[in-house]
Amino acid sequence: MILLETTNKGWHRGLIAAALTLGCWVSLAQASASRPVTLSPEETAFLEAHPRIVLGTERSWAPYVLVGEDGRIAGYDAEILSRINTVTGANFQLVVGDWVDMIEAARERRIGGLSTGAVHEERSEYLRFSDVYLSLQKLLLVRQGNPRQIRSRADLDGKRIAIHSGNRTDEKLALEFPRSTILRLGSVDEVIEALVDGDADASFDNGSTLFYAQKLGLPYLEIGFNLNTPLDLVFAVRNDWPEAVDILNKGLAAIDEGERLQIQRKWYLFGGEELKAAPEALTLSPQERAYLHGKRVVDICIDPDWMPYERLDAEGRYLGVIADMQRSLAKRLGVEMRIVRTRTWAESMTAAREGRCDIVAGAVATPERRPYLSFSTPYLDLPLVIATRTDESFVDHIGSLLDRRFAVVRKHAVSELLRLEYPTVDLLEVDNTRAGLEAVSRGEAFGFIGTAGSIGHVLRGHAFLDLKIGGKLEQRYAVSVGVHPGNPLLLDIYEKALAGISDDAIEEAITKWSVAPEVATFDYMLLWKMLGVFAVAGGLVGYRYRIEARHNRRLRGLNEQFERLAVTDQLTGLYNRRLFDRLGERELARADREDKPLALILVDIDHFKRINDAHGHAVGDRVLMQFSRLLHEGTRKIDLLVRWGGEEFVILCADTDLDGTVRLADKLAERIRCFDFGVVGALTASFGIARYRPGEDLEALLKRADEALYRAKRGGRDRVFAESDEGTEV
Ligand code: GH3
Ligand code: MG
Ligand code: MG
Repeated sequence: MILLETTNKGWHRGLIAAALTLGCWVSLAQASASRPVTLSPEETAFLEAHPRIVLGTERSWAPYVLVGEDGRIAGYDAEILSRINTVTGANFQLVVGDWVDMIEAARERRIGGLSTGAVHEERSEYLRFSDVYLSLQKLLLVRQGNPRQIRSRADLDGKRIAIHSGNRTDEKLALEFPRSTILRLGSVDEVIEALVDGDADASFDNGSTLFYAQKLGLPYLEIGFNLNTPLDLVFAVRNDWPEAVDILNKGLAAIDEGERLQIQRKWYLFGGEELKAAPEALTLSPQERAYLHGKRVVDICIDPDWMPYERLDAEGRYLGVIADMQRSLAKRLGVEMRIVRTRTWAESMTAAREGRCDIVAGAVATPERRPYLSFSTPYLDLPLVIATRTDESFVDHIGSLLDRRFAVVRKHAVSELLRLEYPTVDLLEVDNTRAGLEAVSRGEAFGFIGTAGSIGHVLRGHAFLDLKIGGKLEQRYAVSVGVHPGNPLLLDIYEKALAGISDDAIEEAITKWSVAPEVATFDYMLLWKMLGVFAVAGGLVGYRYRIEARHNRRLRGLNEQFERLAVTDQLTGLYNRRLFDRLGERELARADREDKPLALILVDIDHFKRINDAHGHAVGDRVLMQFSRLLHEGTRKIDLLVRWGGEEFVILCADTDLDGTVRLADKLAERIRCFDFGVVGALTASFGIARYRPGEDLEALLKRADEALYRAKRGGRDRVFAESDEGTEV
């Protein structure tokens, strides 16, 4: 899981991280990617004789293939083929249709071959396979909340697995589950519907079904577990065209790992989170578990001003790549984070020395720190660069500039690293990146040395027009979790938790905070969802049109179609009423069918108008965002949380009886009461709860929740009221 690897892969990852954090390096990565390909005379002759080689694939396998309204095909496969075409001079093209028809067409040699397939010996009678162009894992898809608790292969005994007929890989995989019922369905849509409606318990996926379902605004599926069955995708070409396979392989070999990752990220930005391998299970020793149980709260020292890596904002929110990492670590460990408040990194280091923090969120191991910090395996590997004034020439080696002065952040590892290498180096210590860049701008230092990401972040955010990235250092920043040496148990615990965080998760965090540094202050899960929406609006425009075209039967009018995809609230990122209207009835029907309890909570912030009146609308908006986040964090995944409008929210709690729902509301009320909303101080909210009565409609349920809410308001606010069957209050 470590990014600090000396392997080729690790190096490229580093470069990609740099490219992401520093826009200007992207072109560099691309430039180095195209290696010339030499074709044999036979291959060249083949291409002359075959100016167009058509490969067929299934139309609903996003994001491998995405078809635009104009029929143009984009997606991961299309982009890989396009790169192959560029470097080899070939002209491979994609056509889409039903997968079974495509296989038939390939067999009859009406098309040149197939894309998005695996190697199947039985097809080698008529096809020849290229090298692998993408390695995936097969995942098991279940309905959101995993109602049948399917978490392992054994759990599939006696269950119904839906597969898309004609998918040979899934047919083969199905053989491994002789005690399951296999439902062969005609399309991916039918598979999704079967899962959502409970007609099937599970389905095999390589990410595309989940991707497709999310894009349809059906956030109803999730990963049950990773099947750990590799799926290696290859191109296949009719077997009397061996030259075509050789050309494909040469083209594939010319695309380097870095570029491949970049293409992958582009098409999976949205789906990547789901696609990444399931995290390693966390296995703690009884002693470690007991320790955590007693601990509950971990005091964390951070750099309060080191974006995009970490920062504490004015509202006390902990933001950035490392913040996201720490949040998932804390979640894995089941502990709460408490940030040790400091103004500067130097203060945080003092706090660490004085034993005031359990861990330091992100620190580089240096000899000076050893007495008061032990370090985990590094989880981030950041390039160090130097920012100089624009008029300086390019710095290729710090050692040749030892007569100059360099600014560095006080107590950052970089000063120690530099002094170790160049004992006489003249360093100007500053509080943060911005101060360092200002010093360079004013001529007080020749250059500022820091991580590419943080310098890029400040350069983008402020108008330092006279500064540039003037060079790159050989040293890099290997960031670890730091733990007090007196606490080896905690270090081991963090080491184990870190092992469960995938490289993809780290890259995603880096991407997220480099793409939208300040927008992303709300909730990262939601942000990714929103990024998915942005991707549709930007790169994947064609995809959206295609979905709509396919679902014309169900949708009426273009405007309506457009709106249906807009299922999230702009301000809070929560689902909006539109989604609720669409999915709410479905939940009720399921409760009937499965004979499960269901309840609805209506939440309304108390005296919200006063906030707007006293502090203005912008502050009101921020409170709404904070409030939404509290609700989001306090509810379960299977609860459907919706911004109903204004300062009202609806939570539809599946599989939950009245008691359970009241407990949830009490917990939320407590959370809200205890939260510090910044300038507006403390806030409360009122809750009305109604239990679903079999057969009634959404409107009736809402009406009773609204009545309960009204009674909560009338009863003095800051309280939870539930209707009981007799209509008495709780
Ligand atoms: P109560 O305790 O009775 O609920 O009092 P209240 O002031 O919260 O009640 P009311 O529903 O009358 O006021 C809600 C206010 O919320 C009115 C409106 O100005 C404000 N509001 C609604 N939507 C937004 C929004 O998106 N942003 C901001 N800043 N204010 C909003
Ligand atoms: Mg209201
Ligand atoms: Mg209100």
